[in-house]
Amino acid sequence: MYIGSHISASKGFEAMGKQALKLGANTFAFFTRNPRGGKAKEIDPADVDKLLALMEEHHFGKLVAHAPYTMNLCAAKENVRSFSMEMFQDDLKRMDYLPGNYYNFHPGSHVGQGAEQGIEMIAEALNGALFEEQTTTVLLETMAGKGSEVGRSFEELRRIIDLVDLDDKLGVCLDTCHIWDGGYDVVDHLDDVLNEFDQVIGLDRLKAIHLNDSMNPLGAHKDRHEKIGQGHLGLEAITRIINHPALKELPFILETPNDDEGYTNEIAMLRKLRKE
Ligand code: FE
Ligand code: FE
Ligand code: ZN
Repeated sequence: MYIGSHISASKGFEAMGKQALKLGANTFAFFTRNPRGGKAKEIDPADVDKLLALMEEHHFGKLVAHAPYTMNLCAAKENVRSFSMEMFQDDLKRMDYLPGNYYNFHPGSHVGQGAEQGIEMIAEALNGALFEEQTTTVLLETMAGKGSEVGRSFEELRRIIDLVDLDDKLGVCLDTCHIWDGGYDVVDHLDDVLNEFDQVIGLDRLKAIHLNDSMNPLGAHKDRHEKIGQGHLGLEAITRIINHPALKELPFILETPNDDEGYTNEIAMLRKLRKE
């Protein structure tokens, strides 16, 4: 089972791998730069190589990097869009230091322009940024539908994918809190939800899971993550998720409100709940 949490990137790449091991993880997520945006640190290739060696030695699954929250490829303001595009292109270049891993981003917020306009802008940005030689798969994250978020339904993600030329570089990261808040009942109808995902997007696109419980009821469109087993999803539903044949081989990334000790405990608990 590949499971991990978000890890701070402030001490470099090898440090992230060591921290993951401390938590009992064998994958992890990290922000490619400050989550609120800004300049990324210079990459030290020797440091990256140490992480790659550590990952190989400890049989890590794929990493799921996360774009900064300030990246909004469908912002109404042109300067926000161009700033977002610069970050996106720079991140894609940097990701290739870690060949073959994942880069997850929030599709964007259309800020009143309408979902369709947002979808077109996001696809246009992807068409400008994705390149043939990249080894990174870019993941669209399923969103809770708070505010004017694009990606609130499987159909919206499908529309984006349909408009992108290099769509073999695209996948989806399914956030369990977000889709629950978005109205997909993964507690009582997990199979139906996954069938719907398969019909609309295709399960072959599903590359990673953000494993979170939710503070809010089904369809709340809120996006408040809860600790595993302590929210509206509950431990039984989460146990079914981590053992589901369509999901069990994917990297599970915890984004629950926890400190290091909390993550260590959640990872250990989930490993116990995993039936091999
Ligand atoms: Fe996210
Ligand atoms: Fe998430
Ligand atoms: Zn969230």
